[in-house]
Amino acid sequence: MPVILTSACLLGQQVRYDGGHKRNRYLETLAAYMELRPICPEVGIGLGVPRPPIHLVQHDSQVRLLEVRDHSRDFTDKMTDFARAQLNEHDSVDGFIAKKDSPSCGMARVRVHDGERQLIHKRGVGMFTGVWQALRPELPVEEEGRLNDLILRENFLQRVFVHCRWRKLREEGLTTARLIEFHTRHKYMVMAHSISAYQRLGRLLSQAGKRPLEALAKGYFLQLMAALQRRARRPNHVNALQHLSGYLRKYLSSQDRQELARAIEDYRRGEVPLIVPFTLLRHHQSHIRDLYLAGQYYLEPYPPALGLRNGI
Ligand code: SF4
Repeated sequence: MPVILTSACLLGQQVRYDGGHKRNRYLETLAAYMELRPICPEVGIGLGVPRPPIHLVQHDSQVRLLEVRDHSRDFTDKMTDFARAQLNEHDSVDGFIAKKDSPSCGMARVRVHDGERQLIHKRGVGMFTGVWQALRPELPVEEEGRLNDLILRENFLQRVFVHCRWRKLREEGLTTARLIEFHTRHKYMVMAHSISAYQRLGRLLSQAGKRPLEALAKGYFLQLMAALQRRARRPNHVNALQHLSGYLRKYLSSQDRQELARAIEDYRRGEVPLIVPFTLLRHHQSHIRDLYLAGQYYLEPYPPALGLRNGI
């Protein structure tokens, strides 16, 4: 089961500066499929509840985390040290769901002020999240507000499950065979995000045996997660679906082939959601015994009950 670090206020914990919370109901749905592990970085560095609010302040090119009322109270070093320490403590997490706009947790578009407390731009990153993104660029990170966007939600959760499978592989022990199998089983998924990334990853893995395995695996996973972060556009899904149906061709009657082609075409025209061709593909796959096909995570990247393909 994936583990997701989550801003504690989103889980209903009353840890905000004003003693309140920002419970997000969708996280209650997710909790059935993954462990949501709460963290409040501001409480973590010893700030109480309630507490005076803090904000990001830019001095020259440096951004610092200061108390709004009293700029002599600077929490920058404490917060960066805390974020680094938590990285070690939570080395088994598969993602992070961050509270938007927070000077500690926000992922993007956080307000940044000048020394006079005037807003100068909204391109800041929460200090805790910024450290995590810099030191673990492969980790899926998303803000709770953006999870309302069905495409971003599907993309984030798919990456979380990929990260979780990779973590399991690492726990079982990295071998060349396991690395190749991992890539093979994600083939169509990567294809749906980027054909060129799929080809690049294939070329990278062709160096197995010629390069140190650990370095190869590290580079592979970084590139894989970067590729999956790119939005899987409709034409890319259509391309991957057509490749899959081409593989299935030998097993299907001409009537089944036509029905599948129609479902893919309906999806291409935007008349049906992605779940429709996938339901047909999975139906056919369940009737044939083909290990290669059965192993493709593209067919079932996460528990179907999450319904992530119903609206995209
Ligand atoms: Fe704590 Fe982050 Fe929520 Fe602020 S946004 S209350 S720091 S968990």
